[in-house]
Amino acid sequence: MSGTPFERAGENGRLTLAVPSKGRLGEPALRLCAEAGLTFELTERSLLVPCANAPVDLLLVRPSDIPEYVQDGVVDLGITGANLVLEADADVVTIADLGFGRCTLEAAVPEDAPQDALEGLGGLRVATAYPVSTRRLLAERGIDAELVPVSGSVEAAPRLGLADAIVDLVSTGSTVSANGLRRIGLLLSSQAVLIGGREAIERRRELVDRLDLMLLGVVAARRRRYVMMNARADDLARIRTVLPSMGAPTVVPLADEGEIAVHAAVDADDVWELLPALKDAGATSILVLPVERLVA
Ligand code: AMP
Repeated sequence: MSGTPFERAGENGRLTLAVPSKGRLGEPALRLCAEAGLTFELTERSLLVPCANAPVDLLLVRPSDIPEYVQDGVVDLGITGANLVLEADADVVTIADLGFGRCTLEAAVPEDAPQDALEGLGGLRVATAYPVSTRRLLAERGIDAELVPVSGSVEAAPRLGLADAIVDLVSTGSTVSANGLRRIGLLLSSQAVLIGGREAIERRRELVDRLDLMLLGVVAARRRRYVMMNARADDLARIRTVLPSMGAPTVVPLADEGEIAVHAAVDADDVWELLPALKDAGATSILVLPVERLVA
């Protein structure tokens, strides 16, 4: 690979991070890197992208190739789908879940088929683009099916007479139902993960920990909101009973006697329930702000 970006990456002690170049994981993975504070410039055909402000080189490659590159030490770390790590049967360390690219690997049969659970797949022909994972996940459940590996349009396989059932990735389920199929069971829940090579993690521990901290700071922050409100000091006890804050909330006096401001970081999922409850507890002028970074 003389003169290739692979050879130049990682020079001078720089950490190499493989990132999906396109597809569903591409844009969110690059956005995460940028929000984590890495500064880089993408060009139309860039394969190797050096970060200007950190000793990190990004390598833009296909997500399905990333587990193997990490396992073989071609790069130190990678961002890819957990399902793709399983599919590559790669010996790598999963360092962190990254909270995007969520999907499930599920089995489906034609609407009018009698099967209604995974066990019904026994003895059937099952089309999938993920034969390694499917074989392993079915075997773990003691289900013996005949796999039909396909590379695309998996949902068409039953209609074409190629298979009796399919196993495919689902996020909303609309593709499955649009093709006259019915889901009968879940084999795996997946999301984007940060993976590392065993040797690279040992050798580059300090830099790996630093990158992990920066990425996870963003992942954790996305799940949080910062809530600010005014209240009468007398209402603080009531407000605290409804506020599921990380640690104690911040309470500051306002210029008006007996008035306070209360600030707290809360779970984004709780905001829907929380706001009316805070209002009932006496809070006014409630503000909900995004959190950029959260390092616990
Ligand atoms: P790509 O084929 O490059 O678009 O990337 C596919 C990867 O994105 C999969 O292996 C999953 O890890 C992830 N993914 C997330 N949601 C879905 C979905 N609904 N269908 C397929 N892949 C998904």
